[in-house]
Amino acid sequence: MGDLREQLQTLFGLDDFRPAQRGVIEDVLRGRDVLCVMPTGAGKSLCYQLPAAVMGGLTIVVSPLISLMEDQVQQLRDEGISAAMLASTMPAATQREVMNQVRDGFAGLLYVAPERFFAGSFQPLLRILRPKFLAIDEAHCVSQWGHDFRPEYARLGEVREWLGNPSVIALTATATEDVRNDILHGLRLREPSVVITGFDRPTLVYECRRASKVVEKDQTLLELIAKESGSIIVYCSTRKNVDELTAKLRGRFGDRSIFAYHAGMEAADRTSSQEQFMQTSGAIAVATNAFGMGINKPDIRLVAHYNLPGTLEAYYQEAGRAGRDGQPARCVLLFSFQDRKLQEFFISKIGQDREGVSIDLDQRARDPQLIETLKQRATEKLDLMLRYASTHACRRQQILDYFGDEAEVVDCHCDICGGGAVPSAAAAAAVLPDETILLVRQLLSGIARLNGKFGVTTIAECLAGTQNERAQRWSLDQLSVFGLLKAHSTKKIIAMLHRVIEAGLARQKNVGGQGKSLFVVEMTAAGVSVMKGEQAPPTSLIDIQPRPTSRQPGTNPRALGANPRALRAGADDADDQSFDPAAVARFEKLRNLRLQLAREKQLPPYCVCHDSTLRSIAKLAPDTLAKLEHVKGMGPYKVKMYGEQIIAALKDEAAPLEPRYVDE
Ligand code: ADP
Repeated sequence: MGDLREQLQTLFGLDDFRPAQRGVIEDVLRGRDVLCVMPTGAGKSLCYQLPAAVMGGLTIVVSPLISLMEDQVQQLRDEGISAAMLASTMPAATQREVMNQVRDGFAGLLYVAPERFFAGSFQPLLRILRPKFLAIDEAHCVSQWGHDFRPEYARLGEVREWLGNPSVIALTATATEDVRNDILHGLRLREPSVVITGFDRPTLVYECRRASKVVEKDQTLLELIAKESGSIIVYCSTRKNVDELTAKLRGRFGDRSIFAYHAGMEAADRTSSQEQFMQTSGAIAVATNAFGMGINKPDIRLVAHYNLPGTLEAYYQEAGRAGRDGQPARCVLLFSFQDRKLQEFFISKIGQDREGVSIDLDQRARDPQLIETLKQRATEKLDLMLRYASTHACRRQQILDYFGDEAEVVDCHCDICGGGAVPSAAAAAAVLPDETILLVRQLLSGIARLNGKFGVTTIAECLAGTQNERAQRWSLDQLSVFGLLKAHSTKKIIAMLHRVIEAGLARQKNVGGQGKSLFVVEMTAAGVSVMKGEQAPPTSLIDIQPRPTSRQPGTNPRALGANPRALRAGADDADDQSFDPAAVARFEKLRNLRLQLAREKQLPPYCVCHDSTLRSIAKLAPDTLAKLEHVKGMGPYKVKMYGEQIIAALKDEAAPLEPRYVDE
């Protein structure tokens, strides 16, 4: 394989590979099929360009957009790598010339639009070409569930056979699990290596701003633009919005270069808009989603959405055009609930001819049942998009959860996490009362126990301890969480579960199949972490606790005239003789100390010490550092950091405080 790094340096003038690039390139060089899912700007192109250059011979690259091909071909030629393209927009004579070159054994990267494979003039050539491999860019276009379905992509598996079954590398920046499966099956990949590098873009600051009126939206957008001197893209859902907004912005920011772009413009005007935007620093593009696939302008500092996009995949991809240079950039979604109506209108048009897509290529696009299913899926995706915009939960984490990326977001600056230096978990821990944290954890344990098998109502009934036919049939009444929240009505628990879902700690998943809706609830990675006490619940849940109204008689702790935390402590520790009132008092002191230490160090309290450790210390009442070190959870580091203060707090024989709840 030679020294790949040296080839990277010589051929592309780049120092070293980015994460995962080398592995993918090695697989391609070995002739293995690869599905490569990497975020925008991660460097997917290199994953096929380098092997193509190293292997020599012909490589065919399928790409859906002409502007993208033009850019890439130019860049490759600038590097001294042989590249050509075939597109219907090229003059007929140029097309013929390229085809002749290809027939004569052109060696290099040949960029081709997918519909080209089905054009009569290209068909005979196809059957004699023997490319080294086939690179399929924007491979999510293969999926009927994706936001960019292109019927021609669905036939690329066939094309591969015509080309003598070369190996395939499929690349995309956006793919949920079902889309990934569609790519694998649609392109008939054989024992592929699937490389997913994660969806996190830590340098992007995601924000959502809700506006009830157009003037409000305009005002917010103008303020955002006025503050940003770097390049900006403003995405709109309709051509009319693009035209109107471009006029408004030109009126307001006369000194800046502002370009409109939508499919209704003359091709030459579109190309000129795009080229000027690419070349001008601090330029503003106002565009529909026709703009941007493959836009490789590295220094876009703001991507603002003037309307709600139809899916989170589309949003992620469009917003992801910001900050490709790795520097911080903002992605602001301005939305109103009217935007939903517009998207619903687009959904109602699914199955009808749309620009640039000839549905005749695929008879399945005329199948009424399929169209119905597509509409339903699109509606579900729209719901999730709206949920992203309106949920008070970390935007980055929501995106990761959506794509099934299990990474935990740290140091986030999105509008929810705040943009300050204080980590969100610490901020949350500082303000959420213990009862609320406990309640959220209890709700989560209910979800976790029934994870992925039942919907909101059954989980709520189980937590409320409702004895009914369902509880008996599924033996729910045998579970430890049965009746865990019997102090609340089922209705209240349902409302609380929805809050937990909105906060991104759990998600609803449709397992109905065949167009049926059957939603089950399952945990997200963030939910598991909150349940385990590794992370505090989001502050948005501060008001999750319902006001006491409809409790069953005798089950309201407050009605008993007692502190509910004390009651729970008593219940939890009823069989634990060593947790006597003196231990409870010590525990209380330790908690106060922990809060003080956490605030000093700007850490979430659980990072100082877990409750379970505090309980053990409270029971043991150590009076020396050596004894303290015997407590589980108190390693030498923690003893060194906090030991002296803990011993001092325990020695302070102040009057016992009112017992507090032990939330273990
Ligand atoms: P993607 O297709 O994943 O959105 P690109 O392939 O267009 O991303 O690459 C984005 C930018 O990153 C390009 O400017 C490219 O030159 C640069 N790039 C890719 N790989 C490397 C690397 N190993 N080192 C430095 N820059 C790289």
